[in-house]
Amino acid sequence: MKYLNSIIFLSSLAISAIRGEVKYFSKCVKNGDFAITFDDGPSLDYSNAILDILDEYKVKATFFVNGKNCVDITTNDLAKAILKREYESGHVIGSHTFTHPFGITTLSKDELTYELNALNDALYDIIGVKPAFFRPPLGEYSEENLKVIEQCGIKANILWNLDSEDWDHNYNATQQYIDNLEGKDPYAHSFIALNHDIQKVTAETNLKIVIPYLKKLGYNLVPMDVCIGLPAYQSDYDENSNPKKIPSSNNNNNNNNNNSNGGNNGISKDGSGETVSGDPQNLNNNDNNNSNNNGTNNSNTNNNNNGNGNALPETSDANIVRNSVVLSVTIMLLMSILLL
Ligand SMILES: [Zn+2]
Repeated sequence: MKYLNSIIFLSSLAISAIRGEVKYFSKCVKNGDFAITFDDGPSLDYSNAILDILDEYKVKATFFVNGKNCVDITTNDLAKAILKREYESGHVIGSHTFTHPFGITTLSKDELTYELNALNDALYDIIGVKPAFFRPPLGEYSEENLKVIEQCGIKANILWNLDSEDWDHNYNATQQYIDNLEGKDPYAHSFIALNHDIQKVTAETNLKIVIPYLKKLGYNLVPMDVCIGLPAYQSDYDENSNPKKIPSSNNNNNNNNNNSNGGNNGISKDGSGETVSGDPQNLNNNDNNNSNNNGTNNSNTNNNNNGNGNALPETSDANIVRNSVVLSVTIMLLMSILLL
């Protein structure tokens, strides 16, 4: 009998590991993969132009959308049409809250639950699925937020490791890519890049330069489900939050393989202030002249009140969970043998 408690403990450990929690990602799980993401849309002004560019270059991207930011998706037919186009084109739709509050760490449990569920329901009405991926406005969240987010069906919290700063007129969004990618190569690095489909510079200038540039460097441009190896929608998980299917890359976005090498710079800046609507920036249309090489080394410090999210895990959380399950089951089997 003395083993019984151990077995019960180990069983609960295994079950909790299987059940999992909201997983955290700031880069893709496979080197060479590059996920282009857009926050804050849909935008009646710019989202369709961005979709045209993605179609032209045959790139699948990810849109972390709001329900009522630029436009109310529950009432505006043009906004609904954009969301349908994004989904039906094979882009991933993620959650960025319903109203885009200025950070979620100050919201009550009920307020955050509303932010998640109102968007879940609105998207379900429009595209027939609820998002499993979440990006917190401003990149800020707390441990308490994560519990609520999980209860609303979210499986993965997605940050970024490359910030285009396309909302900030003090930055050149294209140059941000060039600077951040200097010294990196697809054999050793992967990226999740933050952009906004409500920004004119992104729709009219930046993407047209950056997408060919990324392909030239040899990166695979992938949607978020491929990037992190998890399904994008809640219906593709079982009751224990285990994925029913694992997305795979078809790698058809890739072109050349001219890789640079060396360098070990840090990657991005923090993501504050991202909801500012903006005007075009003055851009240099040179696609690969690296003008400076002092890569900012701020490892994506997200401003969390409770400290979670400051440190970026460098390994896939999904792998950690999987390994925990295997270890727990193995221990349980050994204990069972001892009992016999
Ligand atoms: Zn945002």
